[in-house]
Amino acid sequence: MPRIRLEHITKQFSKGSKAVDQLDLVIEDGDFVSLLGPSGCGKTTTLRMIAGLETPTEGEIYFDDQCVFSQDKGINISPDKRNVGFLFQNYALWPHMTVRRNIAFGLENMKWEKSRVESRVKEICDTMRIAEYIDRYPAELSGGQQQRVAIARTLAPNPRVLLMDEPLSNLDAKLRNDMRAELKRLHMNTGATFIYVTHDQSEAMTLSSKVCLMKLGVLQQYSPPLELYGSPQNIFCADFMGNPSMNFVPCKGTPRDGAIELEAESFSLLFHPNSPAEIRSGQELVLGIRPEAVKIVPSGGIESKVISSLPTGLDTILSLNARGTILSAIDFGIVDYKMDSIIRFTFEGNRFVLFDKESTNQITLGSLSLRA
Ligand code: ATP
Repeated sequence: MPRIRLEHITKQFSKGSKAVDQLDLVIEDGDFVSLLGPSGCGKTTTLRMIAGLETPTEGEIYFDDQCVFSQDKGINISPDKRNVGFLFQNYALWPHMTVRRNIAFGLENMKWEKSRVESRVKEICDTMRIAEYIDRYPAELSGGQQQRVAIARTLAPNPRVLLMDEPLSNLDAKLRNDMRAELKRLHMNTGATFIYVTHDQSEAMTLSSKVCLMKLGVLQQYSPPLELYGSPQNIFCADFMGNPSMNFVPCKGTPRDGAIELEAESFSLLFHPNSPAEIRSGQELVLGIRPEAVKIVPSGGIESKVISSLPTGLDTILSLNARGTILSAIDFGIVDYKMDSIIRFTFEGNRFVLFDKESTNQITLGSLSLRA
């Protein structure tokens, strides 16, 4: 399976601004990479340029050492020669063909021998656990079964790379979860390189080995998902990952003996950086606090009023008013809180994020203590 390399890839459509702007990306052999970001950020355009369905305006694309696109060198290998499988949101099986025919048809078009087609169809149906439906028509299958057939059809010719554009978005929540697990298993079993477009951060978190988070055509961060969640490089990344999202508290910082005094509207905190951090005295900062780092305590800490309490059984999402600052918190287990009740909280852990307010870039991670 190939390593895919994008160098300075830019796409400018005739109308409008750049859909993708100077994208550098290396997708390692066997990776499961999600292209993630809000609507219109350039995910689908990027995927289509890798497939060869869209022509970049600038840059180069390599599959291992083979250049499949270069604006400067005038190279543009056609999609059918790139050996990629493509799975769209609307996967449209042929309604008048059985599952067997749906899968075999493409292989026959590629001039595979009859016996090889038969054995491959059987093999891929076993892998995708659809062997018992092999003689049914699409209309006789559930949405999830149809989706498995669509994946089987895409995988049948053994593509080196599987490109998927929101392939689960038409399925209901339960089925989507099942199919996520299925895709992860499939990725492990086939060893193929998967590139997956989604706007759903939890889908990207749970599936991928790496996430490419984009905004307005520009790459924001390219990291393993837990690193993206735990150490976001800027406020956009921090805000995009996680549900409920991170709390952002504007404050002013003053360096003090290796620590940083933070003066926010409602409280004074001491930030202990995990690694030495340079800030100017009086620098405008934004403190990022994940809801799970707001820990409810019986006494001490900071007093707050419960604005809302949303228990799921697994956890409860709280909205707290702490002296005028609104914070989301998560309390784990079967717990509920009365609206308007007074509870106390403190800050737990060492993954609080300090951002520069002006550039919105991360300065450092660290832990917090309350100042008197
Ligand atoms: P979504 O999640 O909504 O599918 P996306 O991140 O996949 O969005 P793209 O479809 O790649 O975004 O579009 C990126 C930008 O390029 C958008 O501003 C879009 O309007 C623009 N765009 C896409 N295709 C074309 C086209 N054929 N002609 C002109 N502009 C286009």
